[in-house]
Amino acid sequence: MVLSICFAFIIGVLFGNYASTALFRLPRNIPISGYNTNTGKAPHCSTCEHKLKFYEYLPVLSWVSTKGKCNYCGVKINPKYTILEVATALLALSLYLYIGSFNEEYILLLCAGTLLNLSLFLFNKKNSAVDKILLLTGFIGGIYRTLTEETILNWVFGLSVAYFIWVSITMKIKKMSGNENSFLNLFFLAGVWLKASILLPYIVILLSLKAANKLSLSKKFQLGVIALYSLVILSL
Ligand SMILES: [Zn+2]
Repeated sequence: MVLSICFAFIIGVLFGNYASTALFRLPRNIPISGYNTNTGKAPHCSTCEHKLKFYEYLPVLSWVSTKGKCNYCGVKINPKYTILEVATALLALSLYLYIGSFNEEYILLLCAGTLLNLSLFLFNKKNSAVDKILLLTGFIGGIYRTLTEETILNWVFGLSVAYFIWVSITMKIKKMSGNENSFLNLFFLAGVWLKASILLPYIVILLSLKAANKLSLSKKFQLGVIALYSLVILSL
């Protein structure tokens, strides 16, 4: 049991580390696999360019050894990378405690959760990475529900309902910003992930978020993702 919990935590840290790498690289258009292939450099401080020792860039260890600052130039490292890593590690841990084994469902839920965590941090960046992440999360949802419900009918039905509502909303919008599009894509995501009984209540939540004039678009998106997250977890 203790060993499994440690294992879940390590998996979570690895997923989180990959997510935080993506968080740094996607907005800068750097390929997300391998070392920084644009410059051919090993891990380095992005301010002073000093090469990092392994304990300065490995997840968790790096946080302990640097205390949130570069050991060479002293520039503060944005805490969002550590927050993303820790949040993903906690997700991996709690999913394990909830599901009780490292099965296919566990892997799919962890992948989807990691991507959603990442999307929360990426939303304000001016590129289409969030849309791709949401698409991938929806794809994982299709696999997950086909696996657990042994039919594609349920999620195809949910997706159709969501699509119908999405069309009726977007028809009324003359010019859509990239960010608004990402917010509306939550309809698709919910259509795939949520069972019929909670899909409609969630869509009501999304519609009220959309109508809330006082909220910024990124707040709306964050609240929408968090609500979706909670509903998926609660319905497991
Ligand atoms: Zn530095």
